[in-house]
Amino acid sequence: MASRNPKKLEELHRILVTVVPAVEVLGLDDAPAYDEPAETEPTFEGNALIKARAGLAATGLPCLADDSGLCVDALNAMPGVLSARWAGRAKDDAANNRLLLEQLKDVPDERRGAEFRCAVAFCTPDGQEDVVFGEMRGRIIRTVRGTGGFGYDAVFVPDGETRTSAEMPAAEKDAISHRGRSLRAVAPIVAAALAPLGSTHG
Ligand code: IMP
Repeated sequence: MASRNPKKLEELHRILVTVVPAVEVLGLDDAPAYDEPAETEPTFEGNALIKARAGLAATGLPCLADDSGLCVDALNAMPGVLSARWAGRAKDDAANNRLLLEQLKDVPDERRGAEFRCAVAFCTPDGQEDVVFGEMRGRIIRTVRGTGGFGYDAVFVPDGETRTSAEMPAAEKDAISHRGRSLRAVAPIVAAALAPLGSTHG
């Protein structure tokens, strides 16, 4: 998987191992370094494909990559692909949350809907390319709440919940999250692609 995030790698392994018991998940830190492409596409799908294609090209191994973000109704689906650096600096979660809450200050409760979206791309050496999607719908609250998760979790309450996704145990969030859903959707596709390798190499 073209990621350095140990939580993503572990989540992928947990899900894949249920359908491919012998699967081994390698991340970017397990592969020789290569020039990682910039995420220049306007869609999650496009950026996930850029990363998965680059990982495949550099390693020769089947490669997965994800791209995700928060799409806020009242902001016409932004921050979207710009989620990680919405406040200007890469991955400053606190600044991103402050800016988002400020932008939505005058937006009434009934128009504070939002969703996390995730695209997962899977590319194999024989030229197969698949992209699957997952969503988690909810709403943006007015103050940060909770210390779990990352990114915008502390300002997001999933539909059917009273807790923010930063107040939910990781396993509960994974069960309904955009990333959990898309990783579970890609698992059978990965299993089918790896099956011939399994029979050749035992
Ligand atoms: P990435 O695809 O992991 O790089 O995520 C892009 C950005 O979207 C992150 O930096 C977060 O700001 C936001 N994001 C994606 N998924 C989540 C999530 O599950 N919770 C909170 N924020 C998220």
